Amino acid sequence: MKKARLKLVFPIFLSLFVLSCSQENLVTRSKFLMGTIVEVTAPNQKAVEIVFDEFKILEEKLSHFNPDSQIGRLNSQGELVVDSQLIRVIKKSLEISQASRGAFDVTCAPLVDIWKKAIKEKNPPDKRDIEKALLLVGWKNIYFDEQSGTVKLKPGMKIDLGAIAKGFAVDEAIAKLKKAGVKSALIDAGGNCFCLGAKSGRPWSIGLINPRKKDEIIQIFALTNKAIATSGDYEQFFISNNKRFSHIIDPSSGYPADTGICSVTVIANDATTADALSTAIFVLGEEPGLKLAKKFKASEVKIVKGADCD
Ligand code: FAD
Ligand code: MG
Repeated sequence: MKKARLKLVFPIFLSLFVLSCSQENLVTRSKFLMGTIVEVTAPNQKAVEIVFDEFKILEEKLSHFNPDSQIGRLNSQGELVVDSQLIRVIKKSLEISQASRGAFDVTCAPLVDIWKKAIKEKNPPDKRDIEKALLLVGWKNIYFDEQSGTVKLKPGMKIDLGAIAKGFAVDEAIAKLKKAGVKSALIDAGGNCFCLGAKSGRPWSIGLINPRKKDEIIQIFALTNKAIATSGDYEQFFISNNKRFSHIIDPSSGYPADTGICSVTVIANDATTADALSTAIFVLGEEPGLKLAKKFKASEVKIVKGADCD
């Protein structure tokens, strides 16, 4: 049972809290998948399992951490004929890369690896390593044939779907739930949520956490049949010389995005778009970011920036 008191909200891994106002027959279960906590609220255990099964299938295809996944094989072989789900993720990634002029770029994997190590060691990387990695980054160098599913990368290039695949998995799982006749459910994959239908005739309530004060909710969104995703600089980061370095990389510089923003929340019709846009806007900054959101018909964007990030 969940109640409307903030201290009783679910402990979501990232930045969004699921709030609830009434008691009803829903089950809530969590599982560690895709490197994060996936939490599902649904009418019954069978519906929950539909979601976890879909996440498991997609993790096996899309994880760059797994050398046997399709992405793992593409990264090591440089060429692969991928299946229909991967075709859709790559197509959407390229669309957002083009529209964001490369601020969103799944080929920034070599940079992501460098900065992941830096975050672990709390030490900025060598400039020369960044310059070398930058030579391997560029979405325009992905050869992609949608008809055949052929994807080719230039030697040394790698793909990391960390900024879009969780949202995609949420959408695929929601499609499976709908097919099974489920009318009401909520999936939260590490801050990438979809609110299916209503909850006891009322919208789902999602609270946005203050990126600098985790016990404070700064806004509550009431959502029905909408996706919401947040990207921020407060889960994976380190501070060096009073400067914060996060895991969201600006592919034009090779350094973590530095636009004075500490969190971006996007509400959209689907979770793939919300996930990718929240990352892209974080890199682009407010003005170009909002233009991008408009292009992809996002319903709402909440940006936390400036003094609120001190
Ligand atoms: P988002 O803002 O949504 O995405 C940030 C992530 O996207 C970065 O971590 C990086 O991977 C990538 N990125 C950074 N900058 C850009 C950019 N400009 N354009 C495009 N992409 C960018 N983590 C583990 O520790 N172990 C695992 O086994 C593991 N398996 C995973 C399997 C899958 C299929 C996926 C999708 C993720 C997995 N992860 C795993 C988590 C992943 O490495 C990231 O930590 C996570 O996706 C970051 O998501 P986010 O919502 O915090 O941030
Ligand atoms: Mg994202």
